[in-house]
Amino acid sequence: MANVRELMARLGPSTVKFDTGCGGTPDLTNQDIAAALGMVPSGLGRELLEACWWPDGAALRRHRLRDAVIALVTPELQRQQRRLAEARTDLGLAEVCIGWGGSATAEQRANRDAAQQRLCRVKMQCWPISTLESLPTLAMAVINEIAQRAHCASCEGRGQTQPRELLMPCKVCGGSGLGQVSDRRRACAIGRDESTYRSKWRGVYEWLLRRMTEAEQEAAWALMITLNKGEGAAA
Ligand SMILES: [Zn+2]
Repeated sequence: MANVRELMARLGPSTVKFDTGCGGTPDLTNQDIAAALGMVPSGLGRELLEACWWPDGAALRRHRLRDAVIALVTPELQRQQRRLAEARTDLGLAEVCIGWGGSATAEQRANRDAAQQRLCRVKMQCWPISTLESLPTLAMAVINEIAQRAHCASCEGRGQTQPRELLMPCKVCGGSGLGQVSDRRRACAIGRDESTYRSKWRGVYEWLLRRMTEAEQEAAWALMITLNKGEGAAA
């Protein structure tokens, strides 16, 4: 089975001729590939598959990619805002208790200090305030990284190494098969300097990269399974 991403790349701008086969895989025509793509469940994964490997096709449906990315981040943003509101309320309550009807006790002070520390921690874990307005830039940077990320040099993208008879997860890439991308490069891709990226943006960037990589991978599997079924039926 050829790499489905390479197959999709053949649906690129100069080769969208649905009546011609695609060289190298005579069993599959462009029409087969486009039809199989239509069978992949709609959602973030399929949008990413198209955005990463068939940019011209995705361009026609960019609003669907936008909607899918927004649907991905909205629950997480809401969860963060809820935690922040709870931590603020807890601190407010702890402060009200101090000195209520008399002098503050050591326990009340300790409660207030703990609530203050919790609020600080929650704030640190929240994505930057401007995450939503930066979402188009973040999403495009992540998509470019997925589409252009090199294979791990150590395992050549297999994610496994084979010392003697054993298959072991590659230690360099942790089994992902993907090459390392530096913070500096990611900072540059979203138009921030490296230290700002590290202190503010790394959390949201890596979260998006993880979720979007998983979704794209799942859709690529679905496409491969559909294409395999088609090949089986034709044989
Ligand atoms: Zn590796």
